[in-house]
Amino acid sequence: MASAGFCRMLAIMAIIFVAGRASADPDMLQDICVADLASAVKVNGFVCKSHTSADDFFSALLAKPGATNNTFGSLVTGANVQRIPGLNTLGVSLSRIDYAPGGLNPPHTHPRATEIVFVLYGQLEVGFITTANVLYSKTIKNGEIFVFPRGLVHFQKNNGRVPAAVIAAFNSQLPGTQTISTTLFGASPPVPDNVLSKAFQISTPEVQKIKLRFAPK
Ligand code: MN
Repeated sequence: MASAGFCRMLAIMAIIFVAGRASADPDMLQDICVADLASAVKVNGFVCKSHTSADDFFSALLAKPGATNNTFGSLVTGANVQRIPGLNTLGVSLSRIDYAPGGLNPPHTHPRATEIVFVLYGQLEVGFITTANVLYSKTIKNGEIFVFPRGLVHFQKNNGRVPAAVIAAFNSQLPGTQTISTTLFGASPPVPDNVLSKAFQISTPEVQKIKLRFAPK
């Protein structure tokens, strides 16, 4: 008969196996499959290109701070398969997010990935909201990390007087981002006013006023 310790070990192994299989992107079937971003052939991900080099696996994209002089006072620089073709089929990517003092990375979701952020410098108020509408939030500073589970709405706000920056890692080559405000008020063609006025319990002029702020450029 198996000992209690052995059973516990089997249970832990099963949990690790299940958690490991819960990765967002499917597994690769070869060592490398550098994305041919120009190919007209559509597959789940990108088709592999035939001539590859070390540069397909390299980027200096995140080396410098991004410009934060915009409405939200933040900028996300994505180092995903669209910028690093070697990431195709590998199931990971990074972003760098820079925040001006007062800057906000507005509430958004990543449909295909869990996100983990590491604070390079500064201090941020971060949070995510569960499907039960419970807010998990915390203030994090340089050297600290926070996790945003896949698909849940989350945000980061720099309440400090100095700039802040994080490196964000994703378990997807292309996590995808839907920013709630832009998705609903900046869609093209537009989401009908009567949908938004009823959803947010506001008047049509108020909907139109918000839509003006998020009009596609
Ligand atoms: Mn995010």
